[in-house]
Amino acid sequence: MSGAQAAVVILYHHVSDSTPKSTSISPERFEAQMDYLEKNNFKVVPLLELTEKLRKGEPLPDKTVAISFDDSYVSVYDSAYPRLKKRGWPFTFFVNTDSVGTSKLFVSWDQLREMSKNGVTIANHTTKHNHLPRRENNESNSQWRERITVEITRAQEKIVQEIGTAPKILAYPFGEYDVDVQQIAKKLGYIAFGQQSGVLYEKGDLQSVPRFPFGGSFTELDDFIMKVNTRPMPTKKVSFYSDKKTEQKNIIVKAGEKPWLVLELDGAAITKKINCFATEQGAITVEMIDNKLWAQAKQALAPGRTRYNCTAYSGEKGRFYWYTQQWLVTDKNGGWTYKD
Ligand SMILES: [Zn+2]
Repeated sequence: MSGAQAAVVILYHHVSDSTPKSTSISPERFEAQMDYLEKNNFKVVPLLELTEKLRKGEPLPDKTVAISFDDSYVSVYDSAYPRLKKRGWPFTFFVNTDSVGTSKLFVSWDQLREMSKNGVTIANHTTKHNHLPRRENNESNSQWRERITVEITRAQEKIVQEIGTAPKILAYPFGEYDVDVQQIAKKLGYIAFGQQSGVLYEKGDLQSVPRFPFGGSFTELDDFIMKVNTRPMPTKKVSFYSDKKTEQKNIIVKAGEKPWLVLELDGAAITKKINCFATEQGAITVEMIDNKLWAQAKQALAPGRTRYNCTAYSGEKGRFYWYTQQWLVTDKNGGWTYKD
């Protein structure tokens, strides 16, 4: 086998029939997905095993997945935990610590301690589950930095206090990050996860590690099979341009803009036909210039989280190269008008 090996991180929120559809998968469909992994000899490993390899720059094992859950929901304790325990499979639960134990919707610290004793990793999803890149009204950059640092650090301290230990991994609320948030996470020593699709990749950025989210309209087994078999798009470098001549450092754009994503391709990706798609736009513009892929939305981006997905057939049956870039789109004045 040639090229980078791949490990896929799976993300769920609720495992339940009675919670909001957009963030839920039914216990039956969850079970069917786990059956697929088992029958097809996937290795389910602790997420920390993968992050340790990333930290050391070691190659990732192929056909390996790690399972994660966000948001402290009690359905993880009620429905997912017993099913995964029965299979002897590890998983990681990212908890927003201020919500734990506050209502019937959320787990309690006792439940988390029980899970932890049985091999579940309890990890940081901040205290308050705020949109980290957003500044509050009249907040200076340094005040914002201080607030975000506290929201991450206090959650870590709370997990250590309640569970006894907390690994240096972080899941961004709503999967939202920008270069400033990444810098803070890096400075604090975290490997940090988004919610954009894609594959763990030893050459990828350690503060925007992708996960494949399953829930809402993405719970079909066929979609799951395609995604757990994806491979990272071989790339040397990722950059962003506001127009063909002007590089931009951040992934925050204003409504009405159409940023370029530039992937400097590596290895086998250079010869592949790559297709890119944008959220709610279908296929977008793709140009290849000197082994660089330039992708741009056809229509101006609307406020919210928007993604460009680029995929190509890898040449190996049933396996696609995948890269997703997330953009955070403000309103025309640079303000945040979308809610979730
Ligand atoms: Zn969350």
